[in-house]
This record gives sequence, structure tokens and C-alpha cells, in this order.
Amino acid sequence: MITWQRLQRMPRDEQRALQGQLLQRYVREHLYPFSPHYREVFDRAGVRPEQMRSIDDLRRLPLSSKQDLLPTAGEPQRFKRFVLQPDPAKIRAAWPLRRKLPLLWQRWTQGVEAVRTRVRQEFAPCFMTFTTGRSAEPVPFFYSPHDIQNLHRTGARLIDVMGLSTEYRVANVFPYAPHLAFWQVFFAGQATGMMALSTGGGKVMGSTGDLRAITRLRADALIGVPGYVYHLLRRAAQEGLDLSSIRCVVLGAERVAPGLKAKITALLAATGAHDVRVFGTYGFTEARMAWAECPTPDNAYTGYHLYPDLAIFEVVDPKTGEVVPEGEDGELVFTPLAARASTVFRYRTGDRVRGGLRYDPCPHCGRTVPRISSDLTRESSLADLQLLKVKGTLINLEDCALLLGSMPEIEEWQIELRKKDDDPLEVDEIVVHVAVKDGCSHELATRNLRELFKSRLEVSPNHVEFLGLEAMLRKIGMETEMKEKRFVDARPKS
Ligand SMILES: [Zn+2]
Repeated sequence: MITWQRLQRMPRDEQRALQGQLLQRYVREHLYPFSPHYREVFDRAGVRPEQMRSIDDLRRLPLSSKQDLLPTAGEPQRFKRFVLQPDPAKIRAAWPLRRKLPLLWQRWTQGVEAVRTRVRQEFAPCFMTFTTGRSAEPVPFFYSPHDIQNLHRTGARLIDVMGLSTEYRVANVFPYAPHLAFWQVFFAGQATGMMALSTGGGKVMGSTGDLRAITRLRADALIGVPGYVYHLLRRAAQEGLDLSSIRCVVLGAERVAPGLKAKITALLAATGAHDVRVFGTYGFTEARMAWAECPTPDNAYTGYHLYPDLAIFEVVDPKTGEVVPEGEDGELVFTPLAARASTVFRYRTGDRVRGGLRYDPCPHCGRTVPRISSDLTRESSLADLQLLKVKGTLINLEDCALLLGSMPEIEEWQIELRKKDDDPLEVDEIVVHVAVKDGCSHELATRNLRELFKSRLEVSPNHVEFLGLEAMLRKIGMETEMKEKRFVDARPKS
């Protein structure tokens, strides 16, 4: 096995050759023989597993998506068809001698039970997390002990990419939930021996409890969801707390708005923490791993550094599903190379990336692994509210979110969709609720907000409504909801 140390500096052509080899093995020895769903996909497409030899061969197969995993009337547990299901006969038929010999040797020396345990260690589901999303049913994704090992491995790589010291004390304020973000941090701590205090986030301990934990721990690193981390730091600044121990902030589970890093460093400076590195990360349930940006003195958005031995990413045109030329915008498609238990293949993430994938060495850290541009629009959290036609223009709510999150005068916000005059047959209206910084004039904020919307989205909100900060925090459910309510659909059902 190639070490991460070597892999992260490997020339691109060698990485591609390695990915081709890993892909070939993965399809022949795991995916095709053991995945009920993908075996059918291969057979229907008339593709033999032997034909998957390089990254370019991926496009022989159709894309799959979240739709394939959702329950149907006839099949309420479709997600099970995505779990690798080996049995002795299938293993005998699919595995080459190179893999069977150790099993035969073990059966001979230690007995059949030892072999069974070994196979269970690799394949048997022992842990799960769920996809989140407002309209779709949550779908469980299973991990085997082998996948948990990978979660340790990617945890250690995250720490390495961000350049964090294993001596750091970490405050993990991700919501305690069966979601990837919380557990990726937990296992990163386990893998590196880093001291991590996982508080469970605002809903479990409240911001008072979290801030007390951070100051008592004298935490070096603060890790959580962007909206909640911002809220915590604002409170710390208001209360005059000393957070001077903090040296880095890691944001995950949601897109980091372009102006947010600057807003966070300003708040940190007010609590005595200077020269702090702020990182964005990217991960999703189906990947069962996460990727990070590398550090720069000015907290640049350096892109998410990938692990080429664990997965292949493609960028496709969201309409046609065709792979787009390098560096072009499109939807990210994910193919794992070392997954067991729940496994997807050529999977549409729903996440759109501007600037596509970069393959040149990172100008900041010099690593040669591919990078996903930090300019990412995540679709999964919005589902049906995604695209909205207002005054004849199609707008993306996630873009609105990024604009609002980046405006320095805005503290908190919520977007509400209404129908004009509450009439189901009328046009859609956008109402933006905002809480502004102390001393900021409402007229000025409204003007700036309208101008920004107009220039970036070619549409202006129908109404801008102001609330005090505390009322706004209650409105979005900060500390009471698992996820802040940033979008509300108040349109009457027609
Ligand atoms: Zn880098």
C-alpha cells in the first residue's frame, strides 16, 4: 500500500495509473460480485467488470444518484441493495488466488471461524450515519470495521493537510448526531491521539456550555458548522471572553460563504485570538470521508485536497451527465476505490463546483493531489427549494445564502418564500429577514442588500424585514434546532 506521505507528492500520471489499477481491482473483486445494485447496472449496460481498466472507462457506465437509493412502494429498503454482500461461493468465484491464499492459509492454521471473523471485519456493517435533506427520506449508510479504519485514515490526512499539531486540544461543536461531520472529527482524534472534546453542539450543551468548555480546555482548535461557530464567537466577543488559545477554526458540513472567514477572524481578534487559520472542509454522507483546505497566512480558499487512492471524482454537465473538460464548472460525481458495506459508484453528489477540479500542484502547499475548487454550491440541503422562478428569473437560493453570509453588516438572516397576497395562483415573492450589526442603519443595509442581489442574481428581494438579534436567533432556531432554519417556504399549497 502506498503511504499518504508518498501519494501526496506523486506526479499526476502516476496517480492516474494507480487509480486505474485500484478501480480495476475494486470493480472485479468487490463491486461487481457483491453489490446487487451495481451488478445489475453493469449487466444492463452490457459492461463486463474486466472492461473497467482506467478512469476513462468510467463513462461506460450510467451515473447513479440519490433517487436510486430512495424507498419505493415495491421496495421500501432499496438502500440495502447498495450494501456489499459477499458469501463464500461469491468470494471463491470472484477473488484471485492472491486474495484467496491468505484465507486458505488461515483456515488451515486457525480454523474456519477465524476466516469468518476476518471476512466480517471487512464487510459486516457495524456503524451507520444518515443522509440529511428536507424533502427526501433520510437514507442510512453503513460502515464495516474496514470502513471505520478508512475513517481513521482520512481523519489523520485531514489533520495533515490542515497542518494541525497533534498536541492541539480540539473543541468539536458539531451537532451530536449520526452524521458524518461529528464522527469524522471524533475518529480523527482517535487516529492521531489528538485531545478532542466533543460537546455535541448548541442543542446539547447550549452556547454557554460550549463557551465554558472551550475556555476551560484552552482549546487550540474549534471545529463546527459555520453558522453555529460564528454565533459562538459573536457571543464570546460580546461577553468579553478570552479565547486567545485558539489557533485554528475548522468549518464543515456546510458551504463556507466567501466573506465568512474574514468575519470569523475579526470576531476572534476581539477575543484576543490573533493569526488564526480558518479552514473549510467538504464531505458528504455517501463518501464516508471528508477533505480540507491547506493553510495560508491570509486564509485563502485553497480548494479541497483529495485522496486519489480512496476515490475518483469526475465533473459532469448537470443536464446531460457528460464529463466536462478539465477546469470547467459542473456537478461532482464520486466513485470510491476502497469502500465496503454501503457503496455507491459514479454517484451524482448534487453539488455544483465552479472551476471544476484542479490537477496542477497546489500553489500553497505543493501537494500534487487533485483539488476541488472551494467555490462549491451544495444542493443536498435545499432539495425542492433549490431553484425558484422570481419575476421570470431562475435563482438559486444557495447563492442568496452565500451573498447574505458574506455581507459584513448582516449578523443573521433568513429567507422566506411567499406567494404574493398569499394567493396560491400568484407569483412567488422573496422576503429577506435580517438582523444587522449594532449601529448599522436599516436604510443603508436595505440598499446594499438590494444592490448586491440585483448585481449578482439579477433579482431583488420583494421585502427586507428587520429583527433584533435575539429575536432573529429564535426565528432560525439557533441552539434549539439541529440545523438553523435559513429557508422557510411559506407558500400556501395550491
Ligand atoms: Zn494546498
